Amino acid sequence: MAYYNDEISTIFKSLNSGENGIKSDSVDARKSQFGTNVLDKQKPLSFFKRLLLQFKNIMIIILLISAIISSVMAITENDIENLFEGILIFFIVLVNAIVGVVQEQKAEDALTALAKSTEPFAKVVRDGKSQKVKIHELVVGDIVQLKAGDQVPADIRIYESQNLKCNESSMTGESHSVSKKSTTILKKNIPISDQENICFSGTSVTSGSGKGIVVAVGKETELGKIAKILGVQVKEKTPLEKNIDKIGKVLTIGILIIVSVVFLIQVLFNKNISAMQALLTAVALAVAAIPESLPAVITIIMALGVQRLARKNAIIKKLSAVETLGCCNVICTDKTGTLTKNEMNVHHIYFSQNLYDEKSKEFLSNDVFVKTCLLCNNIIFDNENKISADATETAIGKFLIKNNLDISKAKKENHKVHENEFSSTKKFMSVVCENGSNKTLYTKGALDYVLPLCTKVLINGEEKPLTENMKKKILLANNNVCCNGERVISFAYKQCAEDYKEKELTFIGFFGIIDPPRDEVYESIKLCKKAGLLTVMITGDHPATALAIAKNLGLAKSEKEVLTGYELNKISDNDLKKIVLNYRVFARVTPEHKLRLVKALKANNKIVAMTGDGVNDAPSIKSANIGVCMGQTGTDVSKEVSDVIISDDNFATIVLAIKEGRAIYQNITKTIIFLLSTNIVEVLGIFVTSLVMPNAIFLLPTQILFVNLVTDSLPAFALGIEPAEKDIMDIPPRNANKSLLSGKTGWTIIYQGFIQSLVVLVMFVFACNYFGNEVASTMSFLTICLMQIIHAINCKSEHSIFKMNIFKNHFFNFSFLTLLGLILAVYFIPFLSGLFGLVSISLTEWLVVIITSIAIIPTVEIGKVIINKKR
Ligand code: ADP
Ligand code: MG
Repeated sequence: MAYYNDEISTIFKSLNSGENGIKSDSVDARKSQFGTNVLDKQKPLSFFKRLLLQFKNIMIIILLISAIISSVMAITENDIENLFEGILIFFIVLVNAIVGVVQEQKAEDALTALAKSTEPFAKVVRDGKSQKVKIHELVVGDIVQLKAGDQVPADIRIYESQNLKCNESSMTGESHSVSKKSTTILKKNIPISDQENICFSGTSVTSGSGKGIVVAVGKETELGKIAKILGVQVKEKTPLEKNIDKIGKVLTIGILIIVSVVFLIQVLFNKNISAMQALLTAVALAVAAIPESLPAVITIIMALGVQRLARKNAIIKKLSAVETLGCCNVICTDKTGTLTKNEMNVHHIYFSQNLYDEKSKEFLSNDVFVKTCLLCNNIIFDNENKISADATETAIGKFLIKNNLDISKAKKENHKVHENEFSSTKKFMSVVCENGSNKTLYTKGALDYVLPLCTKVLINGEEKPLTENMKKKILLANNNVCCNGERVISFAYKQCAEDYKEKELTFIGFFGIIDPPRDEVYESIKLCKKAGLLTVMITGDHPATALAIAKNLGLAKSEKEVLTGYELNKISDNDLKKIVLNYRVFARVTPEHKLRLVKALKANNKIVAMTGDGVNDAPSIKSANIGVCMGQTGTDVSKEVSDVIISDDNFATIVLAIKEGRAIYQNITKTIIFLLSTNIVEVLGIFVTSLVMPNAIFLLPTQILFVNLVTDSLPAFALGIEPAEKDIMDIPPRNANKSLLSGKTGWTIIYQGFIQSLVVLVMFVFACNYFGNEVASTMSFLTICLMQIIHAINCKSEHSIFKMNIFKNHFFNFSFLTLLGLILAVYFIPFLSGLFGLVSISLTEWLVVIITSIAIIPTVEIGKVIINKKR
């Protein structure tokens, strides 16, 4: 029998649960009996398999085959030197592969950690107590409470439902929300879409609330069954990664052409080396010069950046967001809780045509007002008797408690029979309560939305008709309080029978609630201005409230910069596009307006970050270039669609994330400039020497591989974690449409590559003439090695070396010294120098090597001056 056919009592019995939930000590037993709440994941590959995959690269295979042939030939010819060379090539390729595996592993670990940190909680009842558990800890039999905005964490048979509705489009394709009820279904073998008393894992709650019992977890859920059919999702590449793939392909073709030419020239004209040697040189060059590790390096740089951000309260959900953050130029931010502290307090009370401050006890004599406040809310108390509700209601709750009023008692005496829920679109809510045979509807909400529903007004305990004059007075009082930056919540009521609609109400009064701006936001907004970022406030609050706060934060100056939802309704999308950039504050907006605003901004070629938290915010978050969800107030649904979660809900953190995003992109650029400009030296060096001096040997194959292995990976990472440059928020955002290598970056790679090649080549030709080829080759090997690690210092900044903090990046210092040690070891340890075919050189020759290597600093300095001037 299926659970939807069973009576709930039968299910409770069979799963050994009940309204008080399961016992916590039965969790493990349930896990082994019914399974755990995780979907089947792809098994991670073993180290050995990963290692093998590193050899999938065609050039590496050719290199290895050539090395084997060369070794075999060496054995038959009894040529120990060439045999060693073959073995060394093998060894270097192996080390290279291991480095590759470690890199990939690191990138993957970082991504897994990321996924874990965003796992939502489910609200369950265990041992009779309400508690939160991580979704993967949920077991069959658990009692789960669902509310609007929640992600359904498992398959749940509902036994209590208040207007509960779910969006099941992920399961059934049906885009409208479907109602979920607690009634047992008699029909058997019905499709998922008809199983009205089951909420399915992977769907989301769009409105209402309910309770149910978990009947299936993990693989056994309907989602798990589908997932099995669909298999595992492939990781999507970010635009940057795609861009790099493309660059990699072009480079590969270019390098292969050059390498073939080098090979031909050497075979035809170089009398000093065999065809086998020429092949090895060519292939080693190809392996060294083709930047095959670039994608992995980039992923790690991004992932490390993402980890750094997580420590600073910004959780990046999609790696691609890191790039987009760097080119963001408009931040649309919620006011409440993001720009403000969300620590609300009642500051003013207005009723019977009088405004009182929060200390006045006058309010207590207004029975109707007190009762409306006590009843018209969703305040609940947790185990420690603390208020659990949204910030606005918490403020009201605190105020009531301070005045010795008992919310729980009032609610017990006046049973709630109905609720019209609050939504950001409606901006008010109502409850209907029963006391004896009387039913009363209590409403609270934004004043300009509630007042039009009223026909009477309560003055000194008497209901009077609400005249136009009176309305004006109330609106004026409202406006005065709003101009103070206060959020106004008004109250109204009516006696009712069966009609639960809000009409013909009696207006009671209102609260002015203050919510002070966060201290750090003023500076953040200033920083945004400097960084060419437009900050726009979006709020459901009254325009006067919004403007008061915006002025306070330096965000807007006058009413001219405020546009309201009413006005938005009258403007077509086309007109909105034209004027949207003139405003800094959007007040009284609904989630639907937010979506229109995102679209209008995007139509102006803006890269938009949009914050949100509610269920209805999902579309606008999704449509923004960077969807930002608030960690504390955010619903599961909005977290699910967002790219970034701000765990402290703070605007300053968004700005920080943008700054980091810029820094990460800049570091990637630095790494690429370093890797490609140094690769040019190897390729150009060998190419030019084989053209100009066909009989000379510039670098041996093992030397090429050593240069590639040693000088590439460590400095590349070290550059990837450089701290942000001081002026990173003084420049406008990067153009999102530009390819990585276009403009300055491309030119920098070329000029820096050419300068290095020129310096080395001049030295090589000079050394060949004075010291002979063998010494010249050793000298150019040492020069290239030293010059590359010194050039990494150049790459730390696009600014002059005198303007940077050279020693700040400890990993960089460590990698510099390690590599220096390695290079010296290769030369000074006789066994190694023999292996790599180095000869001993004199002090004068060393001096030449050192001076040539260091020359890269002043020459690049000149280059920087020229290229920065051009910009
Ligand atoms: P924001 O996006 O700035 O938080 P909301 O849409 O939440 O704005 O709120 C808009 C208006 O709705 C507020 O100015 C207030 O008057 C009213 N309001 C907010 N919360 C509640 C609530 N829990 N119950 C009734 N009215 C509310
Ligand atoms: Mg709100």
